[in-house]
Amino acid sequence: MVTAMDVVNYANGLVGKKVTVPTNPYGGQCVALIDHIVQHFTDGKKNLAYVNAVDGLKKAKEMGLIVIYNNPNDPYLLPEPGDFFVMNDPHSWGHIGVVVSADVNGMHTIEQNIDGYRDDNGNGINDQLEVGGGGYTRKNYRDYSNVIGWFRLPYSDQKQKEGKVTVEPKTVGEDLFSGLTTKVDPNIMNADSNRATVNLIVIHHNAGTSDENARRTWYKSTGIGTSAHYQVTPTDIWGCVGENYVAYHAGDYGVNQRSIGIEHLNSTGARSWQIAEETYKNSAKLIADLCRRYKLPIDRKHIVGHREIVATACPGGIDIDKLIRMAQEVANGAVKETKVEKKEVVDMFTISAKDRGIALMTGGVFYSLLDAKDPENFWNQGVPHIQVSPKTFDNFQTKSNVDKLDDETVNKLIAGLKK
Ligand SMILES: [Zn+2]
Repeated sequence: MVTAMDVVNYANGLVGKKVTVPTNPYGGQCVALIDHIVQHFTDGKKNLAYVNAVDGLKKAKEMGLIVIYNNPNDPYLLPEPGDFFVMNDPHSWGHIGVVVSADVNGMHTIEQNIDGYRDDNGNGINDQLEVGGGGYTRKNYRDYSNVIGWFRLPYSDQKQKEGKVTVEPKTVGEDLFSGLTTKVDPNIMNADSNRATVNLIVIHHNAGTSDENARRTWYKSTGIGTSAHYQVTPTDIWGCVGENYVAYHAGDYGVNQRSIGIEHLNSTGARSWQIAEETYKNSAKLIADLCRRYKLPIDRKHIVGHREIVATACPGGIDIDKLIRMAQEVANGAVKETKVEKKEVVDMFTISAKDRGIALMTGGVFYSLLDAKDPENFWNQGVPHIQVSPKTFDNFQTKSNVDKLDDETVNKLIAGLKK
């Protein structure tokens, strides 16, 4: 079985060479290096032949490989050694390379053909356009600018991670939410962007048994001024305020800036204020996911009740020790089921902006300018719509794969939603 380190070591051995593949005689291109490695480790069963680097993620998906889309709002979403990163720069056909190591600042890589025009044989023709030409493979370091995502081979050393919560976060509009989120409340909540480094999770209860009433309290329009990042019920994990924003839940602004507030729907009223067992389960999964992404230990120091910050009865009858125990079990893989009951979050939404029209975003692909009739097909299936600034709209367009939304694609996407 192939391990990620096998790929890194093999790529290291190619440094200084012009790497080609039989299916692509125009050697030395960036994609030829990756194609060569993929073919080498899959005995030629998989190949990237004739694909532009920028389409590498799409091709990888077609080949059944794991594809992860970069999320500029989530600095902790990083490629791993042995991954193949894909960029939509420096030209429209993109660039691709191997990740050797990565941290929040950037990645050490092995790439081919990053030195631009070459004419080693002095015939006045760019070597990239000649059979056997192109650039050499070399080591490089780069940040994540224009990196649209990465893909990986099915490495045997990644098997052990199965069973743990490793679901990737979702961006809805400008809000970052856990990938476990089942619904997003589209109302504008009380929040601001003056965020500090997140190092605390604060547990709350609604002090109420109506999910709608609890969430309505946090709408800007109701004027109460409080909010939370998540609302957990027996059936749903609601995304309310994006994790990249400050929510007003702790009664202490400094704590709000550095924490994530999780609200819970009560199953009983005063004075016991219990929550349902299913709510515990959903919350434990969410906590495990948050702690993984923010690199927080799942312990009593990093997960606290509201009353440990200010004088309040909140979080009622919630047993925080039990919640932490359950979150640890999820993180340790003792709980195999990582999906929340009901339905998975649908990674699809429409956006519109002034002077830009409407677009559909799904799976990191930007489908531009829907016909007037098309968005309704999606909205009728519960796909949320988000009004964004023209700048955000343009960001979505430039940082995503762009594709056409023809009738066939519409039907395919709608069919997927109906499942
Ligand atoms: Zn509270």
